[in-house]
Amino acid sequence: MPSRNILVINCGSSSIKFALIREGQKEFLLHGLAERLGSSASVLHWQQDGQKDSQTLSGGDHRAALTQLLPLVDKAAGGELHAIGHRVVHGGERFNHSCRIDAEVLQAIRDTSPLAPLHNPPNLLGIEAAMAIYPALPHIAVFDTAFHQSLPEYAYRYALPESLYREQHVRRYGFHGTSHRYVSHEAAGMTGLAVDDSNWLSAHLGNGSSTCAIVNGQSRDTSMGLTPLEGLVMGTRSGDVDPNLHSHLVRTLGWSLEKIDHMLNHESGLLGLSGLSNDMRTLEQAREQGHPGASLAIEVFCYRLAKSLAALGCALPRLDGVIFTGGIGENSPLVRNKTVAHLHLLNLALDSEANARCVRGVGGPIHAQGHPRVLVIPTNEELQIAIDTLAILH
Ligand code: AMP
Repeated sequence: MPSRNILVINCGSSSIKFALIREGQKEFLLHGLAERLGSSASVLHWQQDGQKDSQTLSGGDHRAALTQLLPLVDKAAGGELHAIGHRVVHGGERFNHSCRIDAEVLQAIRDTSPLAPLHNPPNLLGIEAAMAIYPALPHIAVFDTAFHQSLPEYAYRYALPESLYREQHVRRYGFHGTSHRYVSHEAAGMTGLAVDDSNWLSAHLGNGSSTCAIVNGQSRDTSMGLTPLEGLVMGTRSGDVDPNLHSHLVRTLGWSLEKIDHMLNHESGLLGLSGLSNDMRTLEQAREQGHPGASLAIEVFCYRLAKSLAALGCALPRLDGVIFTGGIGENSPLVRNKTVAHLHLLNLALDSEANARCVRGVGGPIHAQGHPRVLVIPTNEELQIAIDTLAILH
């Protein structure tokens, strides 16, 4: 059978990321971003055969962007598109794996929207627009939460009244599942271990960041919870804070829930600590020039990350390796070095030359000889979505 072409779509509220992937290939045939959708400045950027291009979008909504994308996809796919894989952030407890989208699945994603009000509605917009444009193609949903549905109950339940779980579905769900799954499979391949007999701690560090304990190909615990705010220090998200912070700010400053929500999600994390930027590259440069806020932000980021990795060690029967991935995990020897320096108890140590070498898409082992594995593995969520889509086509 000739190789099939899969279009992968990831819709945000004002953007669509896309990648066209040919079965059996890691390099994308075409990939890009439609952004500022819904405004008069909406624009489509794409890259094909190493060439970058862009065009303004007429109309400006998700459907208009996908319609304008159509000829590009058709051309790059040689007129042969076989399926579309959609990233969906929240699948609740209903979805523990990827699935083909039908009316019932669409309704289930809609019903889960209260748990992800910023993410599932735009994901749905993209799915509905793509299904209208490509009604004859199979559409597959790949959920960020699905990988973590294997968490044991003692890891996913909060110590809250049971009715909040039973009636309101308040529990830990976890996110970034597609990335943690992809890099743990790559780690097994890289080290010659079997996926179903290997144990990993994975750190996906980007603008959003999370850790995951993976046992025999299954997620056993993760740092994000009911929402992506829980856990690590992130670009603009606080990660864990004392839950009483809310009532403290209401009492002492009279802040509204909306203001607190905005502060925790958009003004905190690296940005809040540094007072400078949410971008790790900017902070590393500022730290070099002696900016105290940038230094502190990096120290807190690394310490909290190390603490989370050590805690997730509880979920593993043995450790086969720690994985760094995401924009920061793949590109920051400084963050990897500072994080591992807090993990002497796990006997971790880095080879500084190997650590320095693994940047800009170069992956590989970075641990010192005789110490547990530490691996840098570039993530590829689009490829994992395409792999899932192809598996369902079978
Ligand atoms: P992501 O959300 O995975 O795209 O990751 C974005 C984060 O990766 C931002 O904080 C970037 O500053 C960070 N990043 C990308 N390249 C580098 C680099 N060379 N050094 C440090 N951080 C980087």
